[in-house]
Amino acid sequence: MKKVSLLFLAALQVACSGTDSSDANGSTTSGTVDITTVVQSKFFNSAVVSTSGTSILIKSNGLPQHKTPYWGVGNDLYEDFPDGYHTNVNTSISAQNYSMTIPAKPVASTTHEETTLGAIGLALNGVPIYNDREGGNVALDALTITTFDYSGAHPGPSKDYHYHTTGRYTTTDDTNLVGFLRDGFPIYGRKDNSGTYPSDLDTYGGHTGATADFPDGIYHYHASNVNYLNTGYYILKAGSYYGSKGTFTQ
Ligand SMILES: [Zn+2]
Ligand SMILES: [Zn+2]
Repeated sequence: MKKVSLLFLAALQVACSGTDSSDANGSTTSGTVDITTVVQSKFFNSAVVSTSGTSILIKSNGLPQHKTPYWGVGNDLYEDFPDGYHTNVNTSISAQNYSMTIPAKPVASTTHEETTLGAIGLALNGVPIYNDREGGNVALDALTITTFDYSGAHPGPSKDYHYHTTGRYTTTDDTNLVGFLRDGFPIYGRKDNSGTYPSDLDTYGGHTGATADFPDGIYHYHASNVNYLNTGYYILKAGSYYGSKGTFTQ
C-alpha cells in the first residue's frame, strides 16, 4: 500500500514539473492570468497596443493628455506649478518613440531584478513610469521634487516627460489602475478594491488578489503609502520587479 502511494506521488511530481518549464533567467515561461484584453481596453491617448504570440507590444509618444506646466505658457494644456515649485533644467516636453514589450501572461521571477533609472513601465496614457531614482541613480531629494508638476512628473534630458509618484491625473488616494510595469504586472493606486490600504504588501510592493480589472485575482503592485519626504507625493514603485522585465526602447 505504501509503495503504491509513493509511486502515485512520483507520477504527480512529474506531471506538475511538466507545466512549470523554466527559462535561462530562472523564470517560468508563462503565468496563469492573461492581461491582453485589459491592456487593449485600458491604454489610451497615444498608446497603441498590438499582440504577437505570447507578448504584447505597447507603443506611445510619451506625451500626457492632461495639463502640466511643462507644455509651456500659451499651450491649451498649460497649468501653473504647485506653489513654490518651478521648472527643472529641461524646461519642456517633446514627443518620444517608446516601445514596451510585456508578456501576455506575466509570471513571477526567481531573480527579482532591481528596477533602474529610466522607464520601468508605462502609465495607461503612454507616459513612462520611473522609480524613486534620479540622474546619477540617487534617490529623489526634496530639491528635485520641487520640479514636479501636479502629477509628480517632470521631463528628463531628452524632454521625456515621466511620472515618479502619484498625482492629480493618475491616482491620488484611490484604487485607480495606473499602468503596467515592464514585467507585465499592473500597478494600482494606494488603495485596494475594498477601499482600504493593503496591509500585506510584499517586498516588491505588491500582492495577489482581486482587482476591478482582474476579478479572479492577479499579482499587482500598489503605489507606496508613504508620504515621501513629507512632500505630499507618493512614490509609485521602488525596489525590484516581481516578474521578469521585458524590453523597453526609446
Ligand atoms: Zn525624473
Ligand atoms: Zn491590491
